Amino acid sequence: MHTTPTTLADSPRRPPELPPLSPAFITADDAARWAHEAIGQRRDLEYGGVILKRGGRYYATHPIPDRRNIFDHKRLLAKDSEGNFLAPNDYSAEAFYHSHPADAAQIKSHFPHFTADQVLLFNNFYSSEDQAFSFRNRAFAKAHYFSGPDDVLLKYVSSGSAVEKKLGQQLRGGPGDTSSDFEHPVRQLAAAGELWVVIAHPVWAVFAGACPRTGASGRQ
Ligand SMILES: [Zn+2]
Repeated sequence: MHTTPTTLADSPRRPPELPPLSPAFITADDAARWAHEAIGQRRDLEYGGVILKRGGRYYATHPIPDRRNIFDHKRLLAKDSEGNFLAPNDYSAEAFYHSHPADAAQIKSHFPHFTADQVLLFNNFYSSEDQAFSFRNRAFAKAHYFSGPDDVLLKYVSSGSAVEKKLGQQLRGGPGDTSSDFEHPVRQLAAAGELWVVIAHPVWAVFAGACPRTGASGRQ
């Protein structure tokens, strides 16, 4: 029988502890807004959690910090022997969420040719790793909320489509469409699944051609 070797990093000394839960909400978007507001101006590290469902109500875990440019959901979720996340007893998993820190200065120094709008968009959008994480873990939770430092809240709903699979391969270094258009990654993700702007920033108007869906995906 094949067994997957575990490393120290995969084997925390104690099982992850589920953070306390938010009040109950009618929609997952409302629970995500609550988490986004709870993160608020804490933009020094990445914060994250999950949105759970029970009895037709949605609950966000209180945001917990991780590192400057990483949020690892293993901090709060257990995994099975195959490496799949497990929902806590009595709950189903609705969505992942995580935030990005305020990194405008670092982005500007890495990409000196970026305009202010491009820096803002880059700082308020899923990284390639975030996108690959969503595709990989869609069986656990199809939705993944993103809380940006400039009061942006996005939602990506994985489709499992051929377009998404192709983008996943591209994100892992495979061939794919490339473009020098700055909004190309936004366009690509919007084509791979559903990309919603739950809380918009005016910068999105600059990239309206990328067509992310605006407005709440559920109840306003
Ligand atoms: Zn991220």
